[in-house]
Amino acid sequence: MTDHDDHVQHTWRLAHPDGEEITIDLWTDNDTVRVDGGDHEDAEGGQAMVDRLLATYTAAGWRRVRDYAVNDAVAHAEPVQDDAPEPHGRPEKCPDCGAPVVYEPRYGSDVGEGAAWLCTGCKWGQWLTA
Ligand SMILES: [Zn+2]
Repeated sequence: MTDHDDHVQHTWRLAHPDGEEITIDLWTDNDTVRVDGGDHEDAEGGQAMVDRLLATYTAAGWRRVRDYAVNDAVAHAEPVQDDAPEPHGRPEKCPDCGAPVVYEPRYGSDVGEGAAWLCTGCKWGQWLTA
């Protein structure tokens, strides 16, 4: 254990009748699991892995002493993508001429470049604003 636990989301402490202790830390990335003591190495898999470890240890005679939240989980940022997926709301067909509408993430024109829905017939375009 260190004084720097900003990365720790939740901690479980287990004790064995013979006096041994284990500390399990779930990190705020919701994936990394640090095991201090016992037979297990550090693992990944988040809460599901913690539950599996707790079940394994309690079945082997360990006792849950306490568990407590340390920090809130880090909100997962949306993965950055070069071409954002098409937003919802594409018109079924062009409101002007009824032809199919296609999505163009990098449509360029006199007024700039950006995502747009374009008609395959009359070239009607509706710009998307973030
Ligand atoms: Zn059209």
